[in-house]
Amino acid sequence: MIDDSQLAAVPKRINREDSFAFACHKGVSCFTECCRMLELALSPYDILRLRLSTGKTSTELLSQYIIVEQDPGEPFPRFYLTMVDDGRASCVFVSAAGCTVYADRPAACRTYPMGRAAQKTSDQTVCEYFVLIQENHCRGFDEPARQTPIEYTADQGLSLYYHFNDLVAKIILHDSVGDGFIPSKKQIDFFTLALYDLDRFRVMLKKGEIDLLGITSCANDTDEQLLEMSINWISKYLFTQFN
Ligand code: SF4
Ligand code: SF4
Repeated sequence: MIDDSQLAAVPKRINREDSFAFACHKGVSCFTECCRMLELALSPYDILRLRLSTGKTSTELLSQYIIVEQDPGEPFPRFYLTMVDDGRASCVFVSAAGCTVYADRPAACRTYPMGRAAQKTSDQTVCEYFVLIQENHCRGFDEPARQTPIEYTADQGLSLYYHFNDLVAKIILHDSVGDGFIPSKKQIDFFTLALYDLDRFRVMLKKGEIDLLGITSCANDTDEQLLEMSINWISKYLFTQFN
């Protein structure tokens, strides 16, 4: 027989203005228990930020901490944070004292227990909605603090993560992809370079090894400016016939 604790929590849609009770802190009995057995997908901005707390380059993060998967028929690879083989499949960044990259933790860690979905509308804008995932093991729901999705987004520093995720979503959800576009191996390599290996992309820019396709760029741009440019660049590279 299956009891309630074995059932996966069903996400419930929540309005932007509706408040929910939740707080996570070192005093909860389940502290860090959710940092295990995860399929933690990383976005380009997650990797940009993880470089800061780890002191690693994007190239080092990719080779040391990230698993790249691409199922047959999927146009683009997916990037997951490594879980370590400690018998509990713990996140590579969790310690007894908490998250060792807390200031730069990925969006999925910031947003939990909320989820945000972005949908592209017919006029190509991206609209968002929120869901709440109430899992039995999470004691954060017993806490008195209440907040709306908008307040939680601000509290968790999610705005820039959402901004960049929406830009990347325009590539993943591009009409050409819906029409069956399958990138070549070279295009997938450039997708990985431009979005997930910003440090190597910057070096190649400085050496003049990237054809900018008419996009203005400066190799001394900030990381955020460079990521914005590289997202534009890979979109142009993939979906116009320069290659
Ligand atoms: S990155 Fe930090 S918050 Fe996220 S799962 Fe790992 S230890 Fe937990
Ligand atoms: S299970 Fe919930 S309350 Fe416990 S550490 Fe994770 S997010 Fe915080």
